[in-house]
Amino acid sequence: MPNSQLVAHNETQFKKHVVELAPKIWTAVGFAASTQHMIEGDTSVTIVDTSESTSAATNVLAAFRTHCNKPVGRIIYTHSHRDHISGATVFCEDRTIPIIASAAFASDLVGQDAACIAPNKALGRRTMAQFGIGLTSQERISLGCGPGDRPMEGMGAGHVPPTQLVAEDCDIDLDGVPAQLIHAPGETADHIAVWLPEAGVLIPGDNWYHAFPNLYAIRGTPYRDFAAWADSLEMLADLGASVLAPGHTQPVFGKDKVREVLMTTRAAILHVMQHTADGMNAGFSMDDIATTMRLPDDLANLPWLGEFYGKASWSARAFATGTLGWYDGNPTHLGTLSSTVRAQHVADLAGGVDALLAQAKATEDLQWRLELCDHLIALGQSAQALKADAMEALAEIEINATARNTYLWEAKKLREGTGS
Ligand SMILES: [Zn+2]
Repeated sequence: MPNSQLVAHNETQFKKHVVELAPKIWTAVGFAASTQHMIEGDTSVTIVDTSESTSAATNVLAAFRTHCNKPVGRIIYTHSHRDHISGATVFCEDRTIPIIASAAFASDLVGQDAACIAPNKALGRRTMAQFGIGLTSQERISLGCGPGDRPMEGMGAGHVPPTQLVAEDCDIDLDGVPAQLIHAPGETADHIAVWLPEAGVLIPGDNWYHAFPNLYAIRGTPYRDFAAWADSLEMLADLGASVLAPGHTQPVFGKDKVREVLMTTRAAILHVMQHTADGMNAGFSMDDIATTMRLPDDLANLPWLGEFYGKASWSARAFATGTLGWYDGNPTHLGTLSSTVRAQHVADLAGGVDALLAQAKATEDLQWRLELCDHLIALGQSAQALKADAMEALAEIEINATARNTYLWEAKKLREGTGS
């Protein structure tokens, strides 16, 4: 049985519907991995974010059209992640409309320049694993940031590059609706929030959603600036919005509630930073910092800080690496052993490869079983099925959707003979 909290999060946070945020402002939730927003002006509408596929965008546009039939006058991208920019062709029937984004658009994307040396193949594989691409929707359950079950046709196919890049915070007239575009670096450096002061509606992009923030994405991302993200959350909270329409999950209503969710998420980020810095200063190992990484109870029990998408222990590792790099201060780690040599040493300690295999089968610690399987596989032993079993067992208890998907995806590859 999959983790019941993850199942419940998927059912509630990605329930598919169009929500009226305020008169003439709507959000589409549950149609795609991300949300999309429509703001009605005098003679046209503004679309904020466009989903990850042309099929999802088509469904969203049809749903929006039941509320307002005015033509799309402009598109705003909150940031450059593919799940927000890949349905634009569907919305811009008129290809001459402005498409507005941050001047830092796409600045954090890895391997965009084909001439650069980049681990694109690894990134591609890990992205497939994180999002469970190739798993059935029943296996996948959730993306953590979006529904596990959603249309996949036209994935990535509808992107249109931005035509207007915004370098400074600015006021903008959305065809009669006054708005502000506010730079808010967080999940990415190229985030802009859309603030509609008359309606009190704030569209923060992915700087907030109903899950622990993805301070590190296991598909592989450059360092996400924790301090900047925390600062942006405080700045956004200080706007005093009464409606928050995030880039993923359901909107939040109520001035006090909006401030609470933003400021407690900021507190969670600061806690990860402090815990990690304290541990590094005390000379603790990265494993010990990560395994002792817990939010205080007053934060841990908040439903919007459940680790459905981001994970605090991974975040601790990311903060350590992002601030001081890979060296953890233990000179043992200045040298290295190959996987095979280390595995042979462990096997010798265990009393041989057969004894190692027996321990891998006997232990009830699934993490330890995975580590022993890795040693066995490094020594050419057939421990792939045992490792796949352990990953599938971990997937069932895992609250984090990206970990669940990765365990299941990699287990499938191991059974097919293409995993490691
Ligand atoms: Zn997103």
